Amino acid sequence: MNSLSIKETVDMLIYVSDKIIENEPYLTKIDKEIGDGDHGIGMKRGFSHLKKALQEQEEVVSINELFRSCGLELLKTMGGASGVLFGTMFIGGLKLAGKAQRLTTSFLASFFEQSLQSIMKRGKAKRGDKTMVDALTPAVIELKKASGEGIGLKEALRSAEVSARQGVEDTKNMYAKFGRARQYGDKALGLQDAGATSVYLIFKSMSDWVANND
Ligand code: ADP
Ligand code: MG
Repeated sequence: MNSLSIKETVDMLIYVSDKIIENEPYLTKIDKEIGDGDHGIGMKRGFSHLKKALQEQEEVVSINELFRSCGLELLKTMGGASGVLFGTMFIGGLKLAGKAQRLTTSFLASFFEQSLQSIMKRGKAKRGDKTMVDALTPAVIELKKASGEGIGLKEALRSAEVSARQGVEDTKNMYAKFGRARQYGDKALGLQDAGATSVYLIFKSMSDWVANND
């Protein structure tokens, strides 16, 4: 699959929502070891509302509009620091010109690149601070590379997934500079960041959906 229609993108995002909901216990466990344990619950709440909204929505006019409605739903329902940041992941790229009718590698690359900038501007975290930025940054780098090389969506998402996974692994060697994890100091070493794990799960489920529906 080299690109997706709006309808296919909706189906993919419903699948992503299911996977986040399913992984609530896993995300909770991670955030309990190094935070206040609410990350899984917040993600589950946000993506349950998102799934319902996606199933109920009427005709969507563009991919941009679809992502915008996803981000707004997450902002509205997730709550907490990460609610704003995960909402921003789907809204941050909105300055993108034009109204895309298909989800392509180049659309995703520029969209998430802008989202990443917005998340960093809002949250002030840089790469290496043990946050979701550490999974999103390598994923964006891979998407941009794939876009530059004219690679289709399936392969591009697979590379983004693999590099996000590595980004999560890398957070184990980082000290946390944001959120509750900051208070953990040395105890944070060896433990992965919850928000980075969620970013990885989002890329993995997008990638799996595209591969399964090829
Ligand atoms: P809270 O910190 O309010 O309990 P969550 O537990 O839902 O929120 O989310 C925690 C995750 O949010 C962290 O694992 C981290 O990835 C991400 N996060 C927290 N603060 C920031 C920030 N300033 N910038 C980027 N990501 C952040
Ligand atoms: Mg938390």
